[in-house]
Amino acid sequence: MKFDPTMTSFFGDTLLKWYLANKRDLPWRRTKDPYKIWLSEVILQQTQVIQGLSYYNKFVQTFPTIKHLAKAKEDTVLKMWQGLGYYSRARNLHTTAKMVATIYKGVFPKTYDEIRSLKGVGSYTAAAITSMAYNMPYAVVDGNVYRVLSRVFGISTPINGTKGVKEFQELADALILKKKAGLYNQAVMEFGARYCKPTNPDCENCVLNSKCLAYSFNKVTQLPVKLKKIKIKDRYFNYFLLVDKNKNVIVHQRNKKDIWQGLFELLLIETEKETDLKTLLKSKQLNPFGKNFVVEDIHKEYKHILSHQHLHSHFYVLKFKGTFTTKHNTIALKDIQKLAWPRLIEKFLQVASYV
Ligand code: SF4
Repeated sequence: MKFDPTMTSFFGDTLLKWYLANKRDLPWRRTKDPYKIWLSEVILQQTQVIQGLSYYNKFVQTFPTIKHLAKAKEDTVLKMWQGLGYYSRARNLHTTAKMVATIYKGVFPKTYDEIRSLKGVGSYTAAAITSMAYNMPYAVVDGNVYRVLSRVFGISTPINGTKGVKEFQELADALILKKKAGLYNQAVMEFGARYCKPTNPDCENCVLNSKCLAYSFNKVTQLPVKLKKIKIKDRYFNYFLLVDKNKNVIVHQRNKKDIWQGLFELLLIETEKETDLKTLLKSKQLNPFGKNFVVEDIHKEYKHILSHQHLHSHFYVLKFKGTFTTKHNTIALKDIQKLAWPRLIEKFLQVASYV
């Protein structure tokens, strides 16, 4: 794309000035340690800064270096991640730490290509780490950057199509302040997150408004353009907290390629649609227990929204009159808080006062 060459310095310099006067003081901005920057980037991928902050502090305290993280058990990492969602991030974090410990002897790699090849690290994260830790001129393009660039430069190419991804990356690469790459990247992201917001940005007082095409042509609300949304799938989860005479509970670790891989759950009967308890009690999953149980409690529907799925969940508490055998996967009810649960189940366990 062609644009006025004076725009490069105006755009970068103006944003940098704005950033230095307005930036939030965040712990990962006070370090050049690539491990800590990577950690913050993974935590913030689908999480708000305010929520991610305590997790970041907890991880840095527990695992001050990547070698400490590499030595941890996966269950410990998942447990610490509990409540943040998108658990593949925690698993990738742990796998990558082990990879760095083995391949790079515990020293975080220094080149873009090496960092990009780590598990769970895409081009955005690789650019963020290399620019912020090593000041290398790799431009980040996240949702905030797409919004700022599309508005200032008046670009209507959809940001989630192949053409748009390429076009915006090329523009970002052309705009980056090469000698201040880390600061520049943070400035443009922060500006998008806190000033050029999705709705009602304060264009009247904006430092970029003299050159902003969306503002000049009254197109702020129309940019950026996105292709149609993906279809949301509805799923129906029926969970049973099945407790035996010895106060043990049936649990299951999710291993399939699906949501919550590696986390624990209660006995689950997934159905195609809302299903009443009478029908559920006849399901094959409950067959091994005969009719040897009583329904102790029924909880209202819990809705849980994931990016591509809406989970409609019911929880039932059943008291099994017998005792579970060794072929059942169980845990003592009193130890239930030791396992890493998805947020949905954790919420139920809290409401029902089990944790
Ligand atoms: S003028 Fe408005 S749309 Fe343009 S960069 Fe500033 S806040 Fe964003």
